[in-house]
Parts: sequence; C-alpha cells; structure tokens
Amino acid sequence: MRSLNETLSVKQAANPDGRLIDKVVMITGAASGIGREIALTFASEGAMVVIADLDRQAAQRTAAEIDPTGKRALGVAMDVGDEEQVEIGMGQAIQAFGRLDVLVSNAGIQIVGPLVEFEFAKWKKLLSIHLDGAFLTTRAALRQMYKQNSGSIIYMGSVHSKEASPLKAAYVTAKHGLIGLAKVVAKEGAAHGVRANVICPGFVRTPLVEKQIPEQARAFGISEAEVVKNIMLKETVDGEFTTVQDVAEAALFLAAFPSSALTGQSLVVSHGWSMQ
Ligand code: NAD
Repeated sequence: MRSLNETLSVKQAANPDGRLIDKVVMITGAASGIGREIALTFASEGAMVVIADLDRQAAQRTAAEIDPTGKRALGVAMDVGDEEQVEIGMGQAIQAFGRLDVLVSNAGIQIVGPLVEFEFAKWKKLLSIHLDGAFLTTRAALRQMYKQNSGSIIYMGSVHSKEASPLKAAYVTAKHGLIGLAKVVAKEGAAHGVRANVICPGFVRTPLVEKQIPEQARAFGISEAEVVKNIMLKETVDGEFTTVQDVAEAALFLAAFPSSALTGQSLVVSHGWSMQ
C-alpha cells in the first residue's frame, strides 16, 4: 500500500497544474478533522502547508505525513487564543517559507448546554478559541499579506453562522461573529489585495461531532441514533452528513479563486440544511 506521502507525490506529479502551486498556507486546528483534510488537499494541489495546532505532536505528525523532509510542510504548536503563541507560530511559518498566501482560521471546539446554566468560564473559553483565535491569527497574517499586497483568509464558520440550535449559545454566537469579522477584513483588506470568506459546513463526522452525539442524547433524553436522524440531519435534503472532503473542496475553491470578485461571502456546504 502507498504511504500518504507517496500518494501526495503521485497526485502532485499527476497534477503539475495544481491550483495552489507553491502557495504558502497556514491552517489552524489542522492536526484533526476538517483542518487536516484541508491541509492534505492543499498539499496535493502544490501548496506548502503550515499545520498549526494546540496539539504539537499531532501537528508535527500530520506535517511529517505530508512531507517527511519538512521542505513543504511544517507543524507548529499554537493555542490560537494566546497572543504570544500566535505571533511565534506565524513567525516560524514566515521564517520557514518566506511568505503567507492563505490563512485558514479553522481551530474550534464545541461546548453544549442550556443557556440558563451555561458556565461563564466555558462561554469565555469557547469564544476565545473561535473569536480571539480568528482575530489574532488574522492580524498576524494581515501584516505579512499587506507587505505582499495579496492574500486570502478563510474562516471556518458553520451552518450555525446562519441558524441557531438549542444548547449551542456560545457556538452560535461565535460562528455568527466570524461572518462579521470576514466582512470587515474584506473591506479593509481590499486595498491590499486581501480577500476574506467564510465556509459554513453542516454536520461533519469529526471528533468534535462524535463527542456531541452522546452529550445531546443525554441532554434531550433520546437515543444517539435519534440525535443523528432527528437533530443533526433532520433539515438536510437527503439525510446525509457533509464530509471533510466536501469542506476541503470548498476551501480549495475559495483559496484558488483568481480575483477579488469573491470576498466578504459565506458559502454554506450542508446538504441543504441551510438555504439562503
Ligand atoms: P476536530 O475536533 O476534529 O479538530 C479541531 C482541531 O482544533 C484539533 O486538532 C484541536 O487540537 C484543534 N484545537 C482546538 N483548540 C485549539 C486551540 N485553542 N488552538 C489551536 N488548535 C486548537 O474538529 P473539526 O470538526 O475538524 O472542527 C474544525 C472547525 O470546523 C471548527 O471551527 C468547527 O467549529 C468547524 N465546524 C465543524 C463542523 C462539524 O460538524 N465537525 C461543522 C461546522 C463547522
């Protein structure tokens, strides 16, 4: 069986016209789930990728899977809610690859619970990772992108950037907030060649969602199968989960888009759960 790296090399060789050849991309939360798949997809399209994650070992493992020589993939430890760690991680990325073309602000967590008893510490933790993280990584990325006069920033929103669900006050608040941030970045960044957009996925079976299924079953007093069928996928047109590959394709489309016509937008990828 081919190793992942051989698979990527084969794909790159078969795809000399990759859509991100030699673009430098930082993806936060890329040691797992959606971010990891975006890193693999972007690398197979010719990008040099920086895997930034709270979990240093997993970040370095993912980078080594993509390129064991370290020439085209770098794993950095970063808590996106920590100003100093973001500055250091961004510095390492720019030192390694000399520029930054795309930031995918993806790191995120979920904490569910009724608003009436939601702990303030948990509210602040969730908002810090999603919103402080998006702000701090954006600010660090913009400094470099403005020097280059080009760049693309992609925020990982959610259908919960558009819709609400019970038990998810902090998450829904944070994900709506990302749309506001993206619109401001689109307006301020335009003069410097920087675009900003949001991807809004439906439910994707990553560790983040696997954890929620039993939590919601307990909270609503229903079975896990009912959580999936009657809560998570109820509003989709076909009862299907969105996949990490679906989201990575949307990220590739936004990252590779050739002009500033596409900026300040949010793209919903959710099997029709949310329609605009
Ligand atoms: P995941 O749990 O599989 O991966 C999240 C990654 O983020 C992990 O590697 C984790 O170590 C990292 N991380 C957590 N806190 C961090 C921090 N403070 N600093 C840096 N890294 C941190 O989750 P996922 O499902 O791949 O989620 C990725 C993003 O997609 C999140 O923003 C999430 O809200 C969003 N999203 C997920 C779904 C879904 O159904 N899975 C749907 C819509 C949006």
